[in-house]
Formats: sequence, C-alpha cells, structure tokens
Amino acid sequence: MKTKNAWNNYDEAECSAVEALARDYKAFLSSCKTERECVTYGVRLLQEKGYIDLKDAVREGRRLKPGDKVYGNNMGKQLIAFQIGKQPLEAGMNILGAHIDSPRIDVKQKPVYEEQELAYLNTHYYGVIKKYQWVAIPLAIHGVIAKKDGTVVDVCVGEDEKDPVFCITDLLIHLSAKQMSKSAAAAVEGENLDLLVGNRPITKADWEDISRKRGADEEHEEKKAKKLPKNAVKEHLLKLLADRFCMDEEDFLSAELEIVPAGKARDAGFDSSMILGYGHDDRVCAYPSLIALLESSDLERTGVCILTDKEEIGSVGATGMQSRYFENMVAEVIALTGEYSDLKLRRALANSCMLSSDVSAGFDPLYASSFDPQNAAYLGRGVCFNKYTGSRGKSGSNDANAEYMARLRAVLDEDQICYQTAELGRVDEGGGGTIAYICANLGMQVIDSGIAVLSMHAPWELVNKADIYEAKKCYMSFLKKI
Ligand code: MN
Ligand code: MN
Repeated sequence: MKTKNAWNNYDEAECSAVEALARDYKAFLSSCKTERECVTYGVRLLQEKGYIDLKDAVREGRRLKPGDKVYGNNMGKQLIAFQIGKQPLEAGMNILGAHIDSPRIDVKQKPVYEEQELAYLNTHYYGVIKKYQWVAIPLAIHGVIAKKDGTVVDVCVGEDEKDPVFCITDLLIHLSAKQMSKSAAAAVEGENLDLLVGNRPITKADWEDISRKRGADEEHEEKKAKKLPKNAVKEHLLKLLADRFCMDEEDFLSAELEIVPAGKARDAGFDSSMILGYGHDDRVCAYPSLIALLESSDLERTGVCILTDKEEIGSVGATGMQSRYFENMVAEVIALTGEYSDLKLRRALANSCMLSSDVSAGFDPLYASSFDPQNAAYLGRGVCFNKYTGSRGKSGSNDANAEYMARLRAVLDEDQICYQTAELGRVDEGGGGTIAYICANLGMQVIDSGIAVLSMHAPWELVNKADIYEAKKCYMSFLKKI
C-alpha cells in the first residue's frame, strides 16, 4: 500500500459517484441531527430495502434464511440491522459499527426562566465540547416532548427558513478584559450556556385570557389579571409553546430537547471537495456503514450494521454499546434461523469480525505540533485504520490484532481501496476512545476505522468527500470478503 490522495484515482464516472454519495450524505446529515432522527431515517431506508422489524419476525415466528433481512429499533435511539448470510450464524458475523449521537447541548428538566425580560432555557452540555465554540452562532432545538397521556410530540425549530433560530450570548469584546485573560476552558462556563429564547412580554389580552382559563374568577384575581405579570416574557414563551406543541411547563420534565447548530450541511472549498456539517462525528461513518449493508447482497457471512447511541458519554445506558441489546438481538436472530443454544450465541459473537468506525483526527497544518505527521490521518487519503486509540500508554484502547489487520490489508489492496493508518495525535498529547473495546469484550476481532475530520467536536466539522466514498467501498468489501 502506498498512501496517496484518493482523488488521483478517479475518472469522470467515479467523480460522479463520489458526488452522488456526498449529495445523499448531506441530505441525511442536514435532517438527522439527533440519534432519534438518525434511527427514524435509517428505519425508512431499511424498510424500503425489505428489512423487517425483528419484533414482527419474532411475533410471527418467522424462519429466517440466507438473504433475509431484519432490524431492531432500540427505544428509537439505537438501530441494528442484520442481513442473513449463507453460513450459519455461529460461524460469525461481519459487523459494521458506528455511533449516531453527537456532542450537543441538552435542555434541563426544569429549564425556563426570565431575567431582565430575557427568557432562557437552562441547559447541560452533552459530550466533550470547547464551550466557547457554541456561543454567538445560530442554534436549533430538536427532540421530543413525551406527555402523560402517552403521546410524544416531535420538536424541530430552527431549520425551516420560516423558523426562528436561537442563540447563546457571549460578552462583548469591549468589556472582556477579565474574560480574555481566563484559560479557554474557563472563558465560557457550563452553567452559562443557557439558550436565549424570547424578549417580548405577553399581551394584555392574552394574559387576561390565560388568567381566566387558570380559574382566576375571584375579584382580586380579576384585578391581577388586568395587570401584566412580573415574568411577562416567560409567560409569553409558555403561551407560544402551548400553542405550538400543546405543552405546559411541567411537560419539560419528560422531554428530550437537544440544542444543535442550525442550518444545512454545505459543500466547502472553492473545489467543493469537502463538506462542512454538524455531527460528522460519527454520522460520517454511520451513513456509509448503513448504505454499504443496504447495497450488499448474497453475503457468505451474516452482515450487520450497528448504529449506536451514547458513545460521546461512554457508551452507557440502555441504548449505548455497553447494553445487552446487541447480544440479545443476536440470540433472537439465531433462534429464528434454527435452534438456539447459548453455545451457538457465544460462538457467533467470538467468530465475528468488526470494523468499529469512528472519526479520526485529521492532520491540521495549523496545529501541526499536536500530530506525528508520519502516523496522522490526512483528509482525502481514504478510510483510516487505528490499530489502537486510547490515551497515555494506550489506556482504554482496543488494540487490534496484527493478523486481523493483515487480512484487512489483503482485501483492501485486492479491491483497490484507498486507506491509511493513524494514531490520535502525538503520544501523550491527549487521546480518546470508541466502542471498539466493548465489542472486543465479546471475543471478536475488532479494529477502529473511520474518516478523518477537521475541527472534530466543533459545531461545524469538516470532512473530505473522497473519504466517505472510500469508506463505503471498504465497508462493502469487508461485508463480502472478510
Ligand atoms: Mn466519535
Ligand atoms: Mn466524538
């Protein structure tokens, strides 16, 4: 393998294929800014290709045979799809895994307050972020409000051109002498990342109306109703929320509202070779993983795509990779393909191979000193393999086996796929982890792979279109040949 720029390999037809995949990916990224939105989108694509819900297959007692396709939707936040191969499950699966949660700012359970006629939503950030990057940019709110009656209202405000956007304010530079002398980590405090959502008091007429509805029929209540309340901007906000989402303030208690950068993913650079978007980490790996499974057929070994949640906070919880959901699903699939036994389940897991895909730190010439140039990931040089991640002495890493990497090299070279290998920055410069080590606990072969990103974890991240295309080719070869 000679590392080279993937674009040098493309003729006109392949350039159009790169562009077509990039166009589809941009559409996905622009409309899927939460894990729930990714799952909904993924389920639609899977159903279009004939995948059926595992719950239905179990209920109907279907017998799964080679070529059959099922998916599991875990609480609307984790999605796992299986395409049954010709070999029995216990021979192992070829698994593509990536995560669909991204760093963001969540709305607290009791969020609404008013200060000097400015209405805010109180927040708590999710994942590792440079807080100063999230102020003074247009933001949108995506999520759900679950009501006591069992209904769930979808929320998406700030994406449609007719929608308002939101913002977290920053102190003007003219008064920032103290702030500018702080470290970057302390310049913007976590508790100060509150979202500004309103600045206009409720009208008298509306307030009288609301007071009447609240049962203010006694004489002194009526007098009160004629005067605007102290927190008239907050009351206005609550009225608008009630009108739009049929919710009251208490409904925030059972809501999941995620604050994300507003706007679409865009081509970047005069040559439009890159894409600037929110949430490339890790949707830029999740999307080609899913598409690769959708476009594969006639597989020898069962092909699997895992799109998981909560990676950014340690893969915890029922929808994170540490949960038993995947293992349980494999057990169900084994049962539907023949006789279930615990031993078959263990063999199926231990005989599997996995590409655990997550974004790599792209080499940034402006911050060259943070990288080892010989072992860095470069934009445009194809899919990137990390034998290990982790921090300090590789702590927290899944260190992939040399023999497994050798098998991958053989397939990648045979199929002329452009790839590179990298470490996450210079030794002792920092580090990070992925879902790889969790799946490796099941005894399978796992390696970290993925796509190089610039400005990782910033509101807007950058990737190269050729890398997405090479990743998809790599995933298809992996499903077919490993
Ligand atoms: Mn990631
Ligand atoms: Mn991340």
